[in-house]
Amino acid sequence: MTLRLSAQVGIVGAGPAGLVAACVLARAGVDVCLLEKETREAVERRARAGLVEHRVAEYLDGRRLADGLRTHGVRHGWCDMVCEGERLRVDYAALSGGFGHWVYPQQALVRDLVTRSEAAGCRPRFGRAVHAVTDVADRPRLVGEGLEVRCDYVLCCDGPHSLAERLAPGTARGFRYPYDWLTALVEVDRPVEGVVYVVHPDGFAGLMPRTGHRARLYLQVPCADRADHWNPERVRSAFRSRSGPVADGLPALGAVLETGVLRMRGMVRDRAEAGRVLFAGDAAHVLTPSGAKGLNLAVADAADAAHSLIDRIRHGSGAALAGYARRRAAEAWQVQEFSDRLLTLLHLPEPAGSDPRFPLRLRRERMGHLGRPGPQAAAFAHWYAGSGRAPDPRGPVPVAEGM
Ligand code: FAD
Repeated sequence: MTLRLSAQVGIVGAGPAGLVAACVLARAGVDVCLLEKETREAVERRARAGLVEHRVAEYLDGRRLADGLRTHGVRHGWCDMVCEGERLRVDYAALSGGFGHWVYPQQALVRDLVTRSEAAGCRPRFGRAVHAVTDVADRPRLVGEGLEVRCDYVLCCDGPHSLAERLAPGTARGFRYPYDWLTALVEVDRPVEGVVYVVHPDGFAGLMPRTGHRARLYLQVPCADRADHWNPERVRSAFRSRSGPVADGLPALGAVLETGVLRMRGMVRDRAEAGRVLFAGDAAHVLTPSGAKGLNLAVADAADAAHSLIDRIRHGSGAALAGYARRRAAEAWQVQEFSDRLLTLLHLPEPAGSDPRFPLRLRRERMGHLGRPGPQAAAFAHWYAGSGRAPDPRGPVPVAEGM
């Protein structure tokens, strides 16, 4: 028997994008139905991102969605770039006049948002995969196993393998980088204080803070590589050898809790919509983790979509909704450009040539520019920290806070 429901807004996916949109819409009195294919436990355990931009933290705070982040998160405002054994500090909080990140694991944010969504009256339906979205031009229908939801609008927040490709074929422009990143969640003997990026002839290595005695580690690997080629000892020793003498000043790596290989690619959908269906988050664009932007752009999209839909549904104004796809594509390209620039800095060209010392020295020079006060460093610092406008299209421009 098929369960038939209706909602003003149907949301596919309970990641950061879907949950932020659900909270904002439900609190504004919009009737929302959120379907998620995984169980609640799986969604709340999924360890991924961990750096929340200034503007996103401000936005969540302004909607009373940041209690956990403000209580348990840690302020973060510098990163270290390591090249030819030298460690260069980029104090981006100081360089940007006080903007920084909050370190708060994505799974903790997701847990908070599920609770908030329920409190606002939208109880996500877990274990409900959406197989198709039909009637996109009129009243879209979410179709799942034994379930149909008739909606006025749909927000597809279903991640990088989104239904969007079927709904808007040919709207994505993608790029495959000529390397991948091994990603590992590792235990450390003391908290990692700041992001560390290492450029080395053997490949990039990175260490990102997470809460307590856990950190996320990245290693550049060849495209065809697999996670099971990397046992814990190989992960630790590759990180140590790429970091060189700088490793002595970093927390010691312990148990490797999880490993995976991130296929390094970028994608932007030029139209983040199809009829009455909007796409948000990784459904609309995929970023490499280099600049820690994926989670943040997903929340920015969700906020824009939610406020545009509230304007349309509650106030009868379609102006914001009409500009949604254009605004999101413009911002996605800006962020994509930033992430790509950072990736170029962090990887030697392939092939690096017989003498990698030239591209290495060039990168050291560029890193120096990012750490020294000046227009280049200030621009990087603002982009990296996400100091810009809060992602509510009608919201106030955030006031800079001291770190
Ligand atoms: P997702 O979080 O992918 O959520 C999509 C949801 O939709 C999922 O719950 C999925 O189960 C559900 N779903 C999918 N298909 C269906 C369907 N048909 N029906 C119902 N439900 C469905 N970003 C950063 O900003 N900083 C970082 O440091 C960072 N590090 C990362 C590290 C790793 C290892 C990974 C994998 C990603 C990282 N990212 C980072 C990226 C970030 O995690 C994503 O950009 C972010 O999760 C996007 O949120 P989203 O809500 O758009 O999609």
